[in-house]
Amino acid sequence: MEKILDGKAFANLLGQNLKEKVKKLKDEGITPHFCVINIGDDPASKIYVRTKKRRAEKMGIIQDIYQMSADTKQEEALALIDKLNADPAINGLMVQLPAPKQIDADALLERIDPNKDVDGLTPANIGHLWMGNHFVEPATAEGIIALLKHYEIPLEGKNVVIIGRSNIVGKPLAALMLEQNATVTIAHSRTKNLGEITKKADVLVSATGQAFLVKADMVKDGAVVVDVGMNHVDGKLVGDVDFDKVKEKTSYITPVPGGVGPLTVQFLMEAVVKLTRRQNK
Ligand code: NDP
Repeated sequence: MEKILDGKAFANLLGQNLKEKVKKLKDEGITPHFCVINIGDDPASKIYVRTKKRRAEKMGIIQDIYQMSADTKQEEALALIDKLNADPAINGLMVQLPAPKQIDADALLERIDPNKDVDGLTPANIGHLWMGNHFVEPATAEGIIALLKHYEIPLEGKNVVIIGRSNIVGKPLAALMLEQNATVTIAHSRTKNLGEITKKADVLVSATGQAFLVKADMVKDGAVVVDVGMNHVDGKLVGDVDFDKVKEKTSYITPVPGGVGPLTVQFLMEAVVKLTRRQNK
């Protein structure tokens, strides 16, 4: 009975639109330009950075990668952020996480100019998000809301359960779901009786990084399930959800791959263009 929420197709549709927006900016002599700072050798981070670069190129956006060594000092990373903040040719910047142990990642995020904060993760922009006067949002959370809207899945008055409380996914998604007038529950690793809570969800989002955490008996019949997780099991990319069994119970479900992932990259590009436009008005 399930319908697939095809994030990849939706991201491609949005991409067509965004290319047009970038073209318009270019006609005005403005080329969106953003920078990704990657510190250290995390293999997954290197893949994410390259994926973004490919998408940026497709959209007509310039993306610079600043690859810093694993033994980079905090002051060196801060100095680079200061330099990019001050450069009027740069419209956006982000720090790819995780960073090596000696780096205080929160302090780096805090240093980014909120007007150039493409990830929406500076304390100022997190504050704006919760106050409801935001101009940039964390891409994964925004992508999920947009995907549900695209499929005309109502959120008002619905019970939304989010498993995961990270600053990057769970918390910003909760803020955006509240804005849609959903009733939101956030679960995490200390939550008791997780299955009892998830069974009440009209919309269940899992963002834990635990492969196959969400089993069919934890899901209400007819629920909408959004799987943010990206886990490698036996060389294969899988989500947090036991997809084959859970899909039998859902009205809509995102696959992994091809669900939330492509939307995260697309909404990062949308943020770059949005901030570029904002800086040039
Ligand atoms: P974090 O590790 O920062 O957060 C994971 C969250 O899941 C924590 O809040 C943790 O609880 C909770 N959790 C872990 N295990 C359990 C459990 N057994 N039961 C209930 N809750 C649990 O991860 P991220 O938010 O950064 O990412 C989550 C997943 O989403 C990862 O697989 C990541 O790769 C993926 N991801 C995918 C994206 C996409 O575009 N598809 C984008 C970003 C992330 P606690 O707080 O108590 O530790």
